[in-house]
Amino acid sequence: MIWNGDVLVSEGEGGVYGERMLGGARVWDPYRSKLSALYHVGTGIELTPDMRVLYLGAANGTTVSHVADYVEVVYAIEFAPRPMQDLLEVARRRKNVIPFMADAARPEQYAPVVEEVDLVYQDVAQPDQAAIAIRNCAFLKTGGVLVLMLKTRSVDVRKDPADVFHETLNLLTSAGLFVKESVWLVPYHADHAAIICTKPSGV
Ligand code: SAM
Repeated sequence: MIWNGDVLVSEGEGGVYGERMLGGARVWDPYRSKLSALYHVGTGIELTPDMRVLYLGAANGTTVSHVADYVEVVYAIEFAPRPMQDLLEVARRRKNVIPFMADAARPEQYAPVVEEVDLVYQDVAQPDQAAIAIRNCAFLKTGGVLVLMLKTRSVDVRKDPADVFHETLNLLTSAGLFVKESVWLVPYHADHAAIICTKPSGV
């Protein structure tokens, strides 16, 4: 990852969402992006130019745009029409972003266009987040990485966030994934955790 002192940046055309520029690069704000927060509080995954990424919950393309600055291609899935309009604009300016309006819970909708990927990144804030992530690991190559951004309040607002966190870890391991790192995103995002898994062979 590219750091300018303690500021995470990405190298690409600016002006996507009013982000600051620093030394000619785009500042990747941990308060605006959970993935940036992960790089500040944990290890995450090194993004490299040869990587293919399946991104679930692309929204307006804020984080997608930074990921696209680092990797070969981003398949960006979003089901809401309003953010999709902004995402299309991001895709117009970044040739390696492939937007797709679809429900991440129904991967068969985009299966014909998505290749095998190195990274599945999920930020959909749904009650069945773990199940959606597991289903989409079908696109992940063996040894590939899943980064699940868990919004505990979306899973069950009445439950203790720590319980939701542990239940999610159990679901992922029961599906055969290997949990490499799990970290809360405080102080940047309250009640959010990042869970990073790898896909062993045979899963
Ligand atoms: N990842 C974005 C970023 O960092 O720039 C923010 C994502 S926002 C927290 C969650 C997004 O997921 C919303 O835009 C929502 O419409 C989308 N979403 C929720 N459930 C979805 C689903 N089942 N399929 C596709 N998109 C979904």
